[in-house]
Amino acid sequence: MNNARPPRQALRTLPAQKRIALIAHDGKKEELLEWAERWQETLRQHQLTGTGTTAARLTNQLGLTVEGLMSGPLGGDQQIGARIAEQKLDVLVFFWDPFAPQPHDPDVKALLRLAALWNVPVACNAASADFLLSSPYLSESYAMSIPDANAWASART
Ligand code: PGA
Repeated sequence: MNNARPPRQALRTLPAQKRIALIAHDGKKEELLEWAERWQETLRQHQLTGTGTTAARLTNQLGLTVEGLMSGPLGGDQQIGARIAEQKLDVLVFFWDPFAPQPHDPDVKALLRLAALWNVPVACNAASADFLLSSPYLSESYAMSIPDANAWASART
């Protein structure tokens, strides 16, 4: 087993305007929409992206501008995970359904792993999302530590 861990010593500064990804499993979409309705004025100040159906419903029902990626089961979670690895995403709001297995559970796990690895702020339900969006860091730049990809590479070559 490989126990190597990347040194968390690189610095990343999140911009004041955040790139926020929004995802809700089917059993959680109504809850996300209710939550997003409450926070829509705040959400409008940031750049929003989301998995296909979630993004479409946020746009259709609330008039939010949300970049729609693939639907989750078709690879949308993986697309969001790729943005995390490329440091092109700042905040993840992911209302995953604790009651329903998903056909793309491996992708869900992979996305949550990358968010944990890259120190991305994640909210998994309405209360955690309330805390996240009411944080002063949401509208300020925020410096945080991330894995040092260069040190990781050179330690392994
Ligand atoms: P959807 O995907 O927004 O396209 O429904 C969400 C998911 O199931 O991960």
